[in-house]
Amino acid sequence: MSDSSRATQHPTFCRLCEPLCGLIATVQDGRLLGLAPDPDHPLSRGQVCPKGLAFTEVQNDEDRVLHPLRRRPDGAFERVSWDRALADIGSRLADVVAGHGGSSVGMYVGNPAGFNSELALWLGAFRGALGVPQIYTPGSQDSNSRMVANRLLYGALTQTPFPDLWRTDFLLVLGANPLVSHMSLVRVPRVREVLKDITGRGGRVVVVDPRRTETARAFEHVAVRPDADVWLLLSLLHVVLGEGLADEAAIAEQSSGIAFVRRAVADHPPERTEERTGVHAEQVRRLARDFAAAPSAVAYGRLGVCLGRHGTLANYLIDVLNLVTGNLDRAGGALFVRGVVPMEDLAERSGQASYGAARSRVGGFPDVLGTFPAAVIADEIVTPGTGQLRALFTLAGNPAHSTPDPDRLTAALPALDLHVAVDLYLNETSRYADYVLPATTFLEREDITVMLANAGQPFVQATPAVVAPYGEARPEWRVLDDVLRAAGLGPFAPGRAGRLVGRLGLTPRRVLDALVRIGPYGDRFGLRRGGLSARRVRSAPHGIVLADAPPTGLRTEVVRLPGHRVRLDAPEIVAELARLGDRHESDPAYPLRLIPLREMRSLNSWLHNSPTLMRGEARRHRARINPVDAAALGVEEGAGVRIRSRHGEIETVARVTDEVGPGTVAVPHGWGHAGGWRRANAAGGPNVNRLVAAEVGEVERLAGMAHLSGVPIAVEPLAAQPAGSVEAVGAANEVSAGPA
Ligand code: SF4
Repeated sequence: MSDSSRATQHPTFCRLCEPLCGLIATVQDGRLLGLAPDPDHPLSRGQVCPKGLAFTEVQNDEDRVLHPLRRRPDGAFERVSWDRALADIGSRLADVVAGHGGSSVGMYVGNPAGFNSELALWLGAFRGALGVPQIYTPGSQDSNSRMVANRLLYGALTQTPFPDLWRTDFLLVLGANPLVSHMSLVRVPRVREVLKDITGRGGRVVVVDPRRTETARAFEHVAVRPDADVWLLLSLLHVVLGEGLADEAAIAEQSSGIAFVRRAVADHPPERTEERTGVHAEQVRRLARDFAAAPSAVAYGRLGVCLGRHGTLANYLIDVLNLVTGNLDRAGGALFVRGVVPMEDLAERSGQASYGAARSRVGGFPDVLGTFPAAVIADEIVTPGTGQLRALFTLAGNPAHSTPDPDRLTAALPALDLHVAVDLYLNETSRYADYVLPATTFLEREDITVMLANAGQPFVQATPAVVAPYGEARPEWRVLDDVLRAAGLGPFAPGRAGRLVGRLGLTPRRVLDALVRIGPYGDRFGLRRGGLSARRVRSAPHGIVLADAPPTGLRTEVVRLPGHRVRLDAPEIVAELARLGDRHESDPAYPLRLIPLREMRSLNSWLHNSPTLMRGEARRHRARINPVDAAALGVEEGAGVRIRSRHGEIETVARVTDEVGPGTVAVPHGWGHAGGWRRANAAGGPNVNRLVAAEVGEVERLAGMAHLSGVPIAVEPLAAQPAGSVEAVGAANEVSAGPA
């Protein structure tokens, strides 16, 4: 960090998404002047995406919240001091806990927490101090079904196998768009190059998706109907097992329960599923044969798979396909994880990686990693009884925008006794908070890359804060700590480990440093020559590559089931398969199917306040509709359309394109802002989540996932363009300078 009047440059890394690309920050007089790619970063090697560079505009955004704000009765916010804010929050939180117990306190933690090792570590303090508060994350909108599949297959919730892209001969991508998302749950800098290398060495990349995505255009595309992945995967397995293409030795060595799989897939030949999947039977047979015959192959699925009616089942089947073709835990296949800090192992052994240890009060959904479905937050607030949600903390999250049926949650928020947001912005959720507390950006805090172990080359990098916090911003972990102290609950109050940590006065930095030293690559406090210590990591500002390739043969370390065998016949899976298709309604009033669409210059519910990322005509909200459907409906290119589901409706503008097949409509998510971010508001567009239900019966059973893909919809032309303009945000977003 530099305060000199001379501009200085500082290696650091982006913490917006999984690649964690290397950046060079230029700083002068405590202000960030700009971000550039780090050419010396061993993995990203001078390549970043537009979002990483545009973070300068977030850092310096005049709409950022830089001081604690208190909401006045008229809805406007006024500035208060940290001391005043914490005293009032602490006292009101203590009242809620005394009157209703810790279970009446909840927290929604947004995606950025996944790239903030200090906060991730310290969230345990909040949980420990309050008993078992209701924790919510975007996991129930993007990945919990993946986690539950891990639990059922491997007995280890956090052990998501990742594709060995660097050695594979055949990559089968389902419901993911790596050229835009830069991969998810796996760290792949320079992903375009990595995928091109597969075809360059004679391999194949096949993308199964209802939309001809950017990745599908660059490689091979199999157009599948929305939310039909389960049937396609069953048919692929039918061919592999039925035609004797399976690796029987691998099945026998690695798994138990294959008899169930053989029975389950027997009824799903491609000829029987092609009407549902839209994929010709012969194409499915060829795909299965090619996948099984490849020297190495790996199937990888992400959001499009997770967001369907049977997301957990689909993820399970992807892994079964890898296993039965002999591609689990082998080079070029699907690999298990060994992190610099064994976070997964710690979570599993400490019980934090729980599944079904608790049930949500509303809907009775099993917890996943101690979290409940975000779809039920609104009902948890308004449903009376023991455990009714009365105090809510939102950290780096925007659930009133990003969860299903956002209006339902927006309407429920004022019923809370206490609502505190820790954020960079007044977003669609924090605008209803009693207090908004300013958080640091990733450039204003130190970090070490221990949160994401899934990487082609095991790697670690540390960074100091490259600028001091602007205004009065504080790191989220410190805010949590301060709130608990102010409430008289103390950090880590109950629990043996918590008490010990509290007594020792430990900080996240000290804990993380110790974990690096005892981790698989650690120096064991000097006992292992050449091992890692945090000091050594910090002395290499561009990071340290720990191995040329990820390890294989970790199944016997990772799988926590008898004989370290992968369980193919978990009762939950057996029951789910028996219910296959039970929620796939067919209603002539809603003949089309909605799929969400991720854009290169968007990041979920934020980054829409960046001028660079929102520049140009391409940054207008558009729903993609096939020419056949458009002609039948009388919809023209650039014309306004109304999209209706059984749950709500939105208006936007049509882009008529054959990148989606007939019957499918792709709508970008993350739009429709009405917070304190003026440029984002002005961008217009609707919030696609208004089409999605938050009712208990609509939530996936095994993982509590929202059903965001394959939603039945109808489209009709509008007589005029939708207003599409700024939603009035009114006094709620005014910020006045009150007494500090
Ligand atoms: S891909 Fe873009 S947003 Fe993601 S880490 Fe790299 S620079 Fe940041």
